[in-house]
Amino acid sequence: MAGKTGSMRVMVTGGSGLVGKAIEHVLKEEGGAREEEEWICLSSKDANLIDVAETTALFQKHRPTHVIHLAAMVGGLFKNMRQNLDFWRNNMYINDNVLQAAHDFDVVKVVSCLSTCIFPDKTTYPINETMIHNGPPHESNFGYAYAKRMIDVHNRAYFTQYGRRYTSVIPTNVFGPHDNFNIEDGHVLPGLIHKTYIAKKEGTSLQVWGSGRPRRQFIYSLDLARLILWVLREYNEVDPIILSVGEEDEVSIKEAADAVVEALEFKGEVVYDTSKADGQFKKTASNAKLCKYLPDFTFTPFHKAIKETCDWFVANYNTARK
Ligand code: NAP
Ligand code: GDP
Repeated sequence: MAGKTGSMRVMVTGGSGLVGKAIEHVLKEEGGAREEEEWICLSSKDANLIDVAETTALFQKHRPTHVIHLAAMVGGLFKNMRQNLDFWRNNMYINDNVLQAAHDFDVVKVVSCLSTCIFPDKTTYPINETMIHNGPPHESNFGYAYAKRMIDVHNRAYFTQYGRRYTSVIPTNVFGPHDNFNIEDGHVLPGLIHKTYIAKKEGTSLQVWGSGRPRRQFIYSLDLARLILWVLREYNEVDPIILSVGEEDEVSIKEAADAVVEALEFKGEVVYDTSKADGQFKKTASNAKLCKYLPDFTFTPFHKAIKETCDWFVANYNTARK
């Protein structure tokens, strides 16, 4: 993205993904970019961050002062269950390469992305930022979870050894335009949107996987993007911060499916396939730390965000990732 040369040159890894595209939208369409900032949004076509030499060359080329590190191997419950080793190795390499290159090239600040699905499976609720390393994650996604937890270890070690202020955010389940709508590999909301779209077109039933009872806090990608920009500019802790709607806004998978059915005006049968896994039952996170910093932040209402995402998917069906 073109921008002014200024005191902050921000490089966004994973700029072509769900969250990266939302950041691009906020910068371009909501006037989110500031005069003194230059923004560089990248995809895997610019460099394969699993490769150390390509990562070093990327930092050499762009010389960022700040990095928003989103690039990762990402997938829903079922892809995680199939590929725990790949999630562990690929994400470990990506994160080690990016953070060490940031240090080598004297990057002032890095904001990396963890996820609430990395928290201990057996825990008290609500989960908060201090509990990341308190016990094993859910077995379905242990590869991804441990790789993501290690970002927090990196950040603490870069701070204690070199005084670097590299930090991380912990979003809950994200959804929005430009998500990965692949049914086998993607997360629940894009999967349900795609499946409902097909069921409506073909006059078949909608298959929701699992019992529908597990509970999730969903954050709209545009809300998350606005919060990540705030973290980049204003949040100075090395310790992570949960970026989430409140505990009272947690919904069941059934309620999420109902919202998609309503938004797409699907009138057919909805079937729960209980032969499929439920995954982690819940991972209810506290947003108290966020609310203390930003008491006035308002989240987009869930049904409005679902409607916008469904409308985007229908309008962009031919080009959407699926
Ligand atoms: P996404 O839509 O799958 O996008 C992933 C991004 O990473 C893409 O830009 C992709 O580039 C890039 N990437 C993947 N492998 C790469 C590699 N080897 N080298 C360079 N770039 C690579 O993911 P997302 O949902 O936006 O996730 C962004 C961040 O948020 C991730 O760190 C993820 O763990 C975290 N997060 C996501 C969720 C969620 O529900 N989606 C929840 C919590 C946290 P290409 O487009 O070129 O492939
Ligand atoms: P998680 O939040 O990390 O577990 O990942 P997901 O976004 O993949 O959500 C998984 C939850 O949604 C589980 O309870 C699944 O049983 C349920 N689910 C229902 N239908 C689908 C679907 O079409 N795709 C996915 N990924 N999960 C689904």
